[in-house]
Amino acid sequence: MDRREFLKHAATLALFAPLARFGAFAAEDVPAIPGLTDKKSEIAEGPQVARRPYKNTALTVPLLGMGMMRLPTKGRGIIDYEAARKLVERAMRAGINYFDTAWFYHKGESENCVGELLSKYPRESYYLADKMPCRVLETEADVDRIFKEQLRKCKVEYFDFYLMHALNARTWKKSQELHVYEYLKKQQAAGKIRLLGFSFHDNYQVLREIANAKEWDFCQIQLNYIDWKAYHSKEQYEILTRRGIPAVLMEPLKGGRLAKIRPEAEAILRKARPNDTPAAWAFRFAGSLPNVLVMLSGMTRMEHMEENIKTFSPFEPLTEQERLVLAEAFGKDAVDAVPCTTCEYCLPCPATVNIPRVFKIYNGYKSSGDKEQFKKDLGALDAEDHGAKACVSCGLCLKKCPQKIPIPTWMGTIVREQTLAQK
Ligand code: SF4
Ligand code: SF4
Repeated sequence: MDRREFLKHAATLALFAPLARFGAFAAEDVPAIPGLTDKKSEIAEGPQVARRPYKNTALTVPLLGMGMMRLPTKGRGIIDYEAARKLVERAMRAGINYFDTAWFYHKGESENCVGELLSKYPRESYYLADKMPCRVLETEADVDRIFKEQLRKCKVEYFDFYLMHALNARTWKKSQELHVYEYLKKQQAAGKIRLLGFSFHDNYQVLREIANAKEWDFCQIQLNYIDWKAYHSKEQYEILTRRGIPAVLMEPLKGGRLAKIRPEAEAILRKARPNDTPAAWAFRFAGSLPNVLVMLSGMTRMEHMEENIKTFSPFEPLTEQERLVLAEAFGKDAVDAVPCTTCEYCLPCPATVNIPRVFKIYNGYKSSGDKEQFKKDLGALDAEDHGAKACVSCGLCLKKCPQKIPIPTWMGTIVREQTLAQK
């Protein structure tokens, strides 16, 4: 990174400076929200992850929440319930008592898994977030049917946090036609939803429109170091902060990409804090924003969970100096990557391309420059007809991608780079 570029990053990061007043999150002498009590894990022991209050209230949530979209599997997407049970238990012991599921996660199985695993714990000891799948709604009756089905699958009487899922200009318009917000407000009044929000995938102008249109208790956005600029997360965060809407973060590690970075970038981070992983830096970047209520991480393996618990207990916001170190290390990663978050909404592909996997391999190659690994990983996918070469450019995936990635165009680019790498 040259001096000019470095200073530009430093200026961007300086925006965090007035926001970095931490230690101010004690929740003493603050009011309770009627019907919404603070919840703590009843099996808490050992180091506890940091917590933040919901607005100026006695309700506190862990700064790290467990995303239930990337649960351990036994292959072919079948959830490994025993491994997931151990992760949930470890989470609860560390005070991670916020769990985030959705209708689409694990093709509908995540909600069943949540119901099975969390029903072992008292309902007053955990927060559950679920989402209305606005994309697939066709009638008002669908809204009612799905909401009731979700309560049944999750084995709960109410949701602590409930979201209209993946709103963008199109799904927001459709949701308005189907009166989804009004339906959910009625459920909130009836005590079936405690806090109502939405998750968001579109440009910040659309976010501003939605945020201004209704009363929202919280909003879930994609935010991490790279997306701060590339995906305009900064503008999104600022819109929410100005409206007084707490932010729940998804993709703080950008689908795992920020856990494995270029060796040169990692060396810069390790020099500053030898024991911290790149993932810890990414979490600390996102958590240094005070309007962040909770950030979600899909912790598939126990070592991810243990590493994350370490990062959050206690949680240390970035210092000014560390922000500059981060800018220096990550500057190059902020360009040229496909902004895929491996959400899998584009699947299934009729030509069986494993789109998120192809992008993950490609982004890894662009970050690490490891040509041999790139050839090997893509070759393995090709052998099963799941690689970029299988794409027939039908375009069906384009409408489904919340990041608006021109998927077939990228598939062509990746095939060309793959061919070049083989020469
Ligand atoms: S454009 Fe390619 S990747 Fe997308 S759905 Fe069609 S075949 Fe699959
Ligand atoms: S290409 Fe788009 S829809 Fe598919 S996994 Fe990536 S971000 Fe999600």
